[in-house]
Amino acid sequence: MNKLQHSVGELIRLSAQYLSEKGCDSPRLDAEVLLAHVLGVSRVELYLNLDKPLNNQEVDDYRILIGRRGQRIPVAYLTGRKEFYSLPLTVQPGVLIPRPETELLVEKVIELTADFLGQKDPVSILDLGTGSGAIALALACESSSIRVTAVDISPTALQTAEHNAEQLGVGDQIRFVQSDLFENVDGTYAVICSNPPYIPSQELLNLQPELSAEPAVALDGGEDGLIFYGRIMDQAASFLKQPGFVVLEIGWDQGDAVREIGETRGFQWLETIPDYAGLDRVVVFQWN
Ligand code: GLN
Repeated sequence: MNKLQHSVGELIRLSAQYLSEKGCDSPRLDAEVLLAHVLGVSRVELYLNLDKPLNNQEVDDYRILIGRRGQRIPVAYLTGRKEFYSLPLTVQPGVLIPRPETELLVEKVIELTADFLGQKDPVSILDLGTGSGAIALALACESSSIRVTAVDISPTALQTAEHNAEQLGVGDQIRFVQSDLFENVDGTYAVICSNPPYIPSQELLNLQPELSAEPAVALDGGEDGLIFYGRIMDQAASFLKQPGFVVLEIGWDQGDAVREIGETRGFQWLETIPDYAGLDRVVVFQWN
């Protein structure tokens, strides 16, 4: 590599081209995020320093990351970071990478509990399948009156979520429980929320490589993708206060099926909320 190619701008251009050839969706963005990570600067700072030369160590570190990204390892696993609800979260392989669509679920839970926040009693929320803790942490950071019981079957997920809670200083608002859904849960809650695994098992075989890098235990929703909705709604009523709400993230084509799952178990369906792409994403039930 000649000297010119060691500049920030040139490295980004070459790397983006490489990632594009490897089939990455957003090659330029990925190249920038990874270089910013190696240099310990923001993406804006990269732009202010496009002509800046890099030293050999920086170039080597960057090359390794670009190579791994070319193998379609998700950017968040390479940087160990993912922003969710404006919170900087740590993520690692073995834990689902939080998605922006899930912020809709957080907003809905906050809206449903708004009237009770700031009153004498804290508002208790159960988050089933917390993963990196994204939902639980966003809720806890929203109000000091919120208490979350955050559950996951995966020890790696719980470890990550606890680490994130400490980093964000909300560890005292969240109780972490290793549990297969309600198995080890007690108490009653104003809201039960969950982003359960909802991809049909068969579809897992044909996913883009980035998704295969994520844990199947966080994605695999059984034969029809709906298995966890049935399991959650079978038991939710006995863990709810009155009135209590259930707020669930769903796959784009699962709105009608999940509504029916709740209604056949006696829940009142309130709404199905579309995401920014106009696709069904969150279903809300009430238990009276
Ligand atoms: N939102 C993920 C995806 O389809 C799925 C997450 C899940 O199964 N809960 O990319």
